[in-house]
Amino acid sequence: MLTPQADPKLDIGETGGEMQRIMPTLAPDLYLQWRAGAVAAASLRETPPPSPPAERLLQQVWRHQRFRRGALKTLDGQRVTILHPGFWNREAGPDFRDALVQIGDDPPRSGDVEIDLSPDNWRQHGHHENPAYRHVRLHVVWEADAHPTALPTVSLCHALDAPLPELQLWLDAGPGADLPAGQTGRCAAALRELPAEWRTGLFAQAAKVRLQRKAAQFAARARDAGWEQALWEGLLAALGYKHNVWPMRRLAELRPRLLPAAGAGPVDALTLQARLLGVGGLLPAEWPGANAENAAFLRRLWDIWWREREGLADGLLPRAVWRLSGVRPANHPQRRLALAAHWLADAHWLRRVETWLTDADSDTAAPDALLAALAVGMDDFWSWHWTLRSARMPRPQPLLGPPRATDLAINVLLPWFWSRADAGRNAALCQRVEQRYAAWPAAEDNTVLRLARQRLLAGTAASRPRTAALQQGAIQVVRDFCDRSNARCEGCRFPDLVRRLIPGSAPAGARP
Ligand code: SF4
Repeated sequence: MLTPQADPKLDIGETGGEMQRIMPTLAPDLYLQWRAGAVAAASLRETPPPSPPAERLLQQVWRHQRFRRGALKTLDGQRVTILHPGFWNREAGPDFRDALVQIGDDPPRSGDVEIDLSPDNWRQHGHHENPAYRHVRLHVVWEADAHPTALPTVSLCHALDAPLPELQLWLDAGPGADLPAGQTGRCAAALRELPAEWRTGLFAQAAKVRLQRKAAQFAARARDAGWEQALWEGLLAALGYKHNVWPMRRLAELRPRLLPAAGAGPVDALTLQARLLGVGGLLPAEWPGANAENAAFLRRLWDIWWREREGLADGLLPRAVWRLSGVRPANHPQRRLALAAHWLADAHWLRRVETWLTDADSDTAAPDALLAALAVGMDDFWSWHWTLRSARMPRPQPLLGPPRATDLAINVLLPWFWSRADAGRNAALCQRVEQRYAAWPAAEDNTVLRLARQRLLAGTAASRPRTAALQQGAIQVVRDFCDRSNARCEGCRFPDLVRRLIPGSAPAGARP
């Protein structure tokens, strides 16, 4: 295991990334100061954060599930398992639609979730006589000293996974407007005028904020569940890609029950596939018309699963929790779980990934080295089939390609390593992680990046960030500033802050 001690193999003086070359021209915490100002300004516009928090902050706590998920209970003491938190509803009606919640020993049920400060708000807000609220399955409140409704109700005030002020900073608690594509933001002109090196330096600082923000989430989860468990939850959630984050994360939460007990000997990847797919509700019970190869593989999985099913019955996920339509075959949860099963079955997996961080020859070689560390060997079935139902492919396909490896590096592995190194006060290792993060090649495009390009970076040479870190920096600016403003950029301080950096303007954080 990685120990948070100084590692003599680290060579912090090697290849400096873009961040290191550029940062000395700006105050190193300039973006952090700007961000704190944006959060403070947004807080002043809303209800102040201390207890009770603004309802909007509670919504974000629920949306990101920033509480000890394993400890949630209704006010009358029943265990609550959140299989899916639902989809944030910004229209009239309950705050979250189509959540999937299991209460006590009842089977999981879908329904809506309403967030309020107190149980009394249910009646005070007239929800009890509003038909739009008739499908509410769970009432989530900040604090409760009484339980005046028959609705299952949970209180979050003692269940948060980090102190409220820390969460306030972490969460995107701004208005979160859906900004129209193609409308250039007020900051675009100022960013265009900024010397390219400074612009890059600013986004590099924002990227570092984003890295540390993700690291803080790992640290919060590790306090409750341990570092390794926090890592697996991050990995599986990331493998869920856009649509299946929550069911994948739920399966990761069940990991301690899916792995053999201490001292019970190793378990093979096929057995773990059967467990993950079985608990996940992704093993078809029957499949008329399946070809002989697929049917034979399904039988092998069922031969294992039918013996184990009963012992895991209380953790079974309903099929409805998955979103499978529109998912590309390469991202299908069956395939992602097959990959996770290979990793979980490999007793040396974590050690290999740790070695990758400390030993990879250079930051340039790191992406290929990570792909090699995460690769699994040929799998008789999964190398040749995208999903359980897919026909045999003419050529074998790897279970993990470079785009997902980049996604895992930027969103999970590097933040997790940084978090551990920071917890162990290992500044050299933190710096090593930051260096690797700064040098990582650009990831695939996504909606937020497209928005950042159109609104912030239009007409600048940086409109296509060359590294994943600069992409992350652009996303962070969107989260910190655009999400707290609106489509007309009203009240946004970012353009003024940038403008003051332009040579000839009043100095604001630039070093001479
Ligand atoms: S809201 Fe602010 S940061 Fe976002 S595009 Fe407008 S001026 Fe730029």
